[in-house]
Amino acid sequence: MAEHYDVIIIGTGAGGGTLAHTLAGSGKSILLVERGDYLPREMDNWDPRPVFVEGKYISEDTWFDREGKPFQPQVHYFVGGATKMYGAALYRLRPQDFGELKHVDGISPAWPLSYDDFEPWYTKAEQLYQVHGNGGEDPTEGHRSAPYPWPAVSHEDRIQQIADGLAKGGWKPFHAPCGIQLNEADRPGSTCIRCTWCDGYPCLVHAKSDAEVIAVRPVLGRDNITLLTRAEVTRLETDPSGRSVTGVVVTRDGDRTSYSADIVAVCAGAANSAKILLNSATEAHPRGLANGSDQVGRNYMFHNCKAVVALSKEPNDTVFQKTLGINDFYFATEDYEWPMGNIQMIGKSNAEAMRGEKPLLTKLSPEWALSDVARHAVDFWLTTEDLPQPDNRVTTDGDGNVHLAYTSTNDAEAERLYAELKKILNHSGMAEHHVLRKNFYMDMSIPLAGCAHQAGTCRFGTDPATSVLDVNCKAHELDNLYVVDTSFFPSIGAVNPALTAMANAIRVGEHIAQRLAP
Ligand SMILES: Cc1cc2nc3c(=O)[nH]c(=O)nc-3n(C[C@H](O)[C@H](O)[C@H](O)COP(=O)(O)OP(=O)(O)OC[C@H]3O[C@@H](n4cnc5c(N)ncnc54)[C@H](O)[C@@H]3O)c2cc1C
Ligand code: SF4
Repeated sequence: MAEHYDVIIIGTGAGGGTLAHTLAGSGKSILLVERGDYLPREMDNWDPRPVFVEGKYISEDTWFDREGKPFQPQVHYFVGGATKMYGAALYRLRPQDFGELKHVDGISPAWPLSYDDFEPWYTKAEQLYQVHGNGGEDPTEGHRSAPYPWPAVSHEDRIQQIADGLAKGGWKPFHAPCGIQLNEADRPGSTCIRCTWCDGYPCLVHAKSDAEVIAVRPVLGRDNITLLTRAEVTRLETDPSGRSVTGVVVTRDGDRTSYSADIVAVCAGAANSAKILLNSATEAHPRGLANGSDQVGRNYMFHNCKAVVALSKEPNDTVFQKTLGINDFYFATEDYEWPMGNIQMIGKSNAEAMRGEKPLLTKLSPEWALSDVARHAVDFWLTTEDLPQPDNRVTTDGDGNVHLAYTSTNDAEAERLYAELKKILNHSGMAEHHVLRKNFYMDMSIPLAGCAHQAGTCRFGTDPATSVLDVNCKAHELDNLYVVDTSFFPSIGAVNPALTAMANAIRVGEHIAQRLAP
């Protein structure tokens, strides 16, 4: 007889970790099943060579592209999931992102819920994840029922100069919302030390608001919470009718065990959640669990992104750079009819990481050592929305491996955003300082393997013919199966996805708690 719980949660990242935190107080017995282990706390956490060059914390998974070519996806299997490595930029989607938006390559579809529906959950997620920000600065942001719980993280001098230059030119730079436990009013007492090893690194001192630190650890001492690490869910079993999940099959240290629960929540990340459902085909669900609509795995999105490095003669000695955002091009502008997206900063370049990312960088500035390039670099991250496409999809093969087919969309918008960034940098006091007497930019488009912002694959909606999940993120075709990670996104907007996954997990968690209440 399988060990039985009230709820089993598969995965402990932004979705699963937050869901566990939300449900912990219900007193219901909850089993968290996590494929990874705790991320080791070691000096390598803050060393670009192991993190970026050697990819120490990246999974050894092999996935396959549309042509069947193998690649190593940049996914991270730990308690806390991808949030262990994330940049903690915790944005809300814009209100318009919840509606239908026209793009150069097609339609970004409307969500079944509006921004107003989501707003209270965003507020709760911001409180839980201790988001720092300054409401009202960003003209594209929606209304908020409460201010950010923490003041915005201040700009350092070079970033302040850029912000001032942009504001002078008529743009509306804002302080980027950020989940780090930094108390600038009491630096000696602050958990966060404001270091440079944040975006893309694990936080050695556990000061980043990741799902392990904020959501999972605080509930682990409770009698009703059990966490199984190094435990991979390979399959879900159902009763003969196919309406209920009756078994969660887990492989751990080579052993195979089955657990059961009244409610099962799959929160393994967009690709892996689809993988679990697709690998759980039965007679009642021949195309994979909850897949009568043939939508499971489809509509995979991960943003059309560019990392851009702007070099100026003036050094950039910023330590924590991810403080500035620009949404002036988020939607159409007077002279461009399509939305372009969001501009934000990324972690400060350093020579080691640059070497790992693009050896060509050194060749582009032969007169400078890579350390000089890094010191003078100002680093931007450009995000354009990509569209849900049925053929951009996760499938699995006979061995259960992930195949990821993806063709980018809205490339013209992404290029335009890049052109706009170059223009505004010209106006922001950087042009006269540029090396090589002209603007000098290097961009790094993100390849298929960089699936940090993966979403879609099990979208929610009101029509079972075109969606996998209902509005509560319960599978249309099953009574006790939920998917609570970024899989539910019907569209992805052009801001980072984690806060939306967290807010949704609180929303769905409160729904499940109500459902289980006596
Ligand atoms: C380098 C990097 C930087 C990022 N920066 C930002 C940022 O600044 N802002 C932002 O909003 N987002 C950022 N993201 C994206 C963000 O981290 C993700 O959107 C978010 O974590 C997704 O949440 P999730 O619950 O869908 O998946 P995850 O957080 O990845 O959680 C999935 C969990 O499921 C586990 N799992 C997978 N398969 C199985 C299985 N079969 N059995 C058991 N467990 C399983 C995984 O180990 C993992 O713990 C970044 C991501 C990366 C990698
Ligand atoms: S900036 Fe703060 S939260 Fe980020 S890694 Fe450094 S100490 Fe951790």
